[in-house]
Amino acid sequence: VTAAPVPDHVIDDLAARLGPSSVLRPEDGLDAYDLPARPVPGTGRGRALCVARPRSTAEVREVLSWARRHRVRVVPQGANTGLVGASTPPPDQRVAVLSTELLAGPPTVDPVDRTVVAGAGTRLSALDAALAPYGLWLPIDLAADPTVGGMVATNTGGARMIRHGDVRRHVLGVEAVLADDAVTVVEDLSTLRKDNAGLDLAHLFVGSAGALGIITKVALDLDRRPRARATALVATADPGHRLTVLFEAHLGEHLSALEAMSAEAVSMASEARGLRVPFAGGPPPLTMLVEASTTAAGGPGVADLEALLAGAVEAATSDGLAADAVLAPPGEAWALRHALTEGLRRHGQVLGFDVSVPRRELGPFRAEVRAAVAHWVPRAVVADFGHWGDGGIHCNVVLPATDPASEDERRRIREIVYGAVAARNGSFSAEHGIGPLNADLWEQHTPDGARALSRRLKDLMDPLGVLGHPGLPYGEPVSG
Ligand SMILES: Cc1cc2nc3c(=O)[nH]c(=O)nc-3n(C[C@H](O)[C@H](O)[C@H](O)COP(=O)(O)OP(=O)(O)OC[C@H]3O[C@@H](n4cnc5c(N)ncnc54)[C@H](O)[C@@H]3O)c2cc1C
Repeated sequence: VTAAPVPDHVIDDLAARLGPSSVLRPEDGLDAYDLPARPVPGTGRGRALCVARPRSTAEVREVLSWARRHRVRVVPQGANTGLVGASTPPPDQRVAVLSTELLAGPPTVDPVDRTVVAGAGTRLSALDAALAPYGLWLPIDLAADPTVGGMVATNTGGARMIRHGDVRRHVLGVEAVLADDAVTVVEDLSTLRKDNAGLDLAHLFVGSAGALGIITKVALDLDRRPRARATALVATADPGHRLTVLFEAHLGEHLSALEAMSAEAVSMASEARGLRVPFAGGPPPLTMLVEASTTAAGGPGVADLEALLAGAVEAATSDGLAADAVLAPPGEAWALRHALTEGLRRHGQVLGFDVSVPRRELGPFRAEVRAAVAHWVPRAVVADFGHWGDGGIHCNVVLPATDPASEDERRRIREIVYGAVAARNGSFSAEHGIGPLNADLWEQHTPDGARALSRRLKDLMDPLGVLGHPGLPYGEPVSG
């Protein structure tokens, strides 16, 4: 790869293929594509060679043919809300962005089959608006508004995973364009739930981080929208896994979220956003948000769900697992949960780690990280929270903005967290996927055979290596 600037005629060729209005150049102002939607610590400002905005699968093929012809790498980009640095280009102005924002016509909903086919650039909010009139939803709940294609490429998790699973569980089919010699369109857009006829190619693209193909359309399995919902905030010291098991047993299929929020995270959020802490005496060591819901028209109402929650909390109290609890309106309880990320950011420098461990290890994991951070970087505060019911934890370490972590301290904190994760057979990426920010961890923690097969698939589907961020673990440089 030479460092010489990419000549203008290369971009001119793309504009000739797509039409000039579908290609943006640096002089058009590319901030929205060069910078992530929300700042991602550890990534600097990118600079795209240009931005291609195809309107159809045929135009996506054109972009990839162009990329192959000129040996230009292309980073697919949806809503740019990814948190591992994979959706923005590097700063060398040699990599193009393929934005899916125009691949977003009206979704095709089938209310009888409970399925939808949507363009890759469709935002989750737009999908939800199209599904609501049918009483349907895609039950992926997060504090961002990603695209359908980005959600498949990162396998989004979110707060209702304990009940509904991650995006993978909802993918029925995918249409994608490969950067192989034939620029193949893989049409695997079946909306059948029962379809066991051979390899499930659609699932190859789940979690692929834009390295294997450009997802152009997605077929999704939907759920009915909840009809009634109740939430409780439960104060606890450190419930380990026992509270999770107890709530699952008591609430059964009604349990739809089980989130944990540390005292430090709740204090920072309530301070930054003026939210009320519902417990006298301030936040307890851990506040659990427990949600019970139902989709059944003839099923329990809100009062019944509240009674169910009260029964579960009573059992937790008599087992010594809960110190206090309040039934809070869902809007209020979730406002607190959704305020945490922003609350921490306003408080100081946040070093964030999206990790998971087996549920029985959550308590010991937290204790180990807290002790080690207190020992090595005493001015840092662990303000963790996360999807406790799924073994997921956003292990955030917050430092004063006026006295941020040195390079050595950052490295030390990273070692503490990932060391504690590895010792428990956890995951270095619970739900944010892979990208340049965790590529080294993929190398370290992925078994040899799985790494070798991933690379062989990459070579087969993208032999010139023109697809995806160059910092991806299997993002070898484009060949000349
Ligand atoms: C406030 C906030 C809260 C969040 N909460 C959660 C959470 O609870 N759970 C969770 O899992 N994530 C969460 N995220 C992360 C993020 O929203 C998800 O990873 C999301 O799925 C990314 O979708 P996107 O459309 O923004 O993709 P982008 O950020 O644009 O891209 C992400 C990756 O997908 C690739 N890609 C995008 N579109 C395509 C396509 N059509 N074909 C091939 N590859 C493609 C990109 O190259 C990149 O590698 C959160 C982010 C923010 C900012």
